[in-house]
Amino acid sequence: TQFTDLNLDPKVLRAVTEAGYETPTPIQAGAIPEALAGRDVLGIAQTGTGKTASFTLPMIHKLARGRARARMPRSLVLCPTRELAAQVAENFDTYSKNVKLTKALLIGGVSFKEQDTLIDKGVDVLIATPGRLLDHFERGKLLLTGIEIMVVDEADRMLDMGFIPDIERIFGLLTKSYQTLFFSATMAPEIERITRTFLKDPARIEV
Ligand code: AMP
Repeated sequence: TQFTDLNLDPKVLRAVTEAGYETPTPIQAGAIPEALAGRDVLGIAQTGTGKTASFTLPMIHKLARGRARARMPRSLVLCPTRELAAQVAENFDTYSKNVKLTKALLIGGVSFKEQDTLIDKGVDVLIATPGRLLDHFERGKLLLTGIEIMVVDEADRMLDMGFIPDIERIFGLLTKSYQTLFFSATMAPEIERITRTFLKDPARIEV
């Protein structure tokens, strides 16, 4: 499989080509077609396998159409740490450079005021750590009822850090029909359990 075989939006494909990638990694070749077809994805992959592009590319493809409304983000990527959230945000910048997408990074250490201003304008992609996301939610500044795509990245690290109750709470705040792309390096029983609870007939891709 080549990236040109994946039926990605031409603008997304061009950004991938310009980044110097021709051949999708196994997680990308497995996950991208399923995600584009609208299925939930359970990706079992370590860091370094190209897992980030396996969710950012289909997200950008889908979000390229439509427009965000004030305080109602269209997609959410949950990351265990600020550092990972910042890396995911960089990936979005790389792959969405030919598409007009708005994004906000909700991580600790950045002022709420700055983040509120972005959310007020409307964002296509919200990249957040679970605690900070819930802080914003509890301040009443954010609605999660417009989420179309929900991503959980590095769920095994979320488990190690005690974030599973936060993740469950966040899933419970999504009301519209949404697609879930869920990634973990390992499948601990607690992770199996939440995927069984929240994912709808997922395509399971293990690399
Ligand atoms: P990740 O597993 O998402 O952290 O990605 C690991 C590294 O692989 C990153 O530096 C990416 O830029 C790079 N990468 C992602 N997809 C590809 C690809 N299809 N071909 C070559 N490198 C890639």
